[in-house]
Amino acid sequence: MREYVTEAIVLKKEPVREFDTRLSLYTRELGKVRAVATSARKPLSKLSPHVEPLSIVEVRLAEKGGMQLTDALRKGTLPKKHIGVLALLDTVLETGERDDRLWSLLTRDFNLAEVLSVLGFDPNFAVCESCGNAEPDTFLFKDAEYLCARCVPYAISREEYVVLPPRVKPGIL
Ligand SMILES: [Zn+2]
Repeated sequence: MREYVTEAIVLKKEPVREFDTRLSLYTRELGKVRAVATSARKPLSKLSPHVEPLSIVEVRLAEKGGMQLTDALRKGTLPKKHIGVLALLDTVLETGERDDRLWSLLTRDFNLAEVLSVLGFDPNFAVCESCGNAEPDTFLFKDAEYLCARCVPYAISREEYVVLPPRVKPGIL
């Protein structure tokens, strides 16, 4: 069994089995990691309060079969406005790819356009994938593409896209 201790941002949390929680974490050392916190949903679980999405935590992970979260200590919390960034990272990142540039960006005051740039989707050079509009404001995770407001499909869930603030244009970032 290997053990890791690293800082992490909690991207997503979902219930599995009777009392367990499955977490998606973006870690400093290991990049994106999926881990199970056994019994985290039992009353009095000591892990549970530390693994809410947006939390910046120090985690202890044990690799046995999959990754198990064995300890967590919350150090801080990202601002609520970054909830869309969590969904973005959870969708577009591959697991197990460490990225020091992304980690240092996420742990300072950042904006969505900077995150998209570091991920290789610089909004400054984006055009609407559907109509060619040079000012698309929506980034769709699934297809990793930009669309303008006119071309965004109606039937799309809040978990599937982020919207850039208006007037993110060359030279204004
Ligand atoms: Zn368009």
